[in-house]
Amino acid sequence: MEMPICEVCNKNVSVGVACVPAVPISCAYCKECLEANAHPWWVLVANTACCGGLSYTADWWKLMVEDTCKHLGKTLEQFEEDVEKSLKEESEFLSGNRMEDM
Ligand SMILES: [Zn+2]
Repeated sequence: MEMPICEVCNKNVSVGVACVPAVPISCAYCKECLEANAHPWWVLVANTACCGGLSYTADWWKLMVEDTCKHLGKTLEQFEEDVEKSLKEESEFLSGNRMEDM
């Protein structure tokens, strides 16, 4: 069986599937990403958006986000932008539903 590509960096072949801490989801990780405490970008964005933003998350979650940014060569600003986008889409979705109920 061929191992899937790592879902964090999308570059390396994964060494296995691991659970993202605090998120009920398993993803394929390569060794480098596991060692770097890096996690799939979209999982971090989606879960941070669920909390209402990075400032509402726990310190260890922030650390995971910082480590992932560092590992992927992204910035925290990019991350917060993606969270904002996700929060905006969510509120548009919710208000769209409410309109339909009326
Ligand atoms: Zn990787």
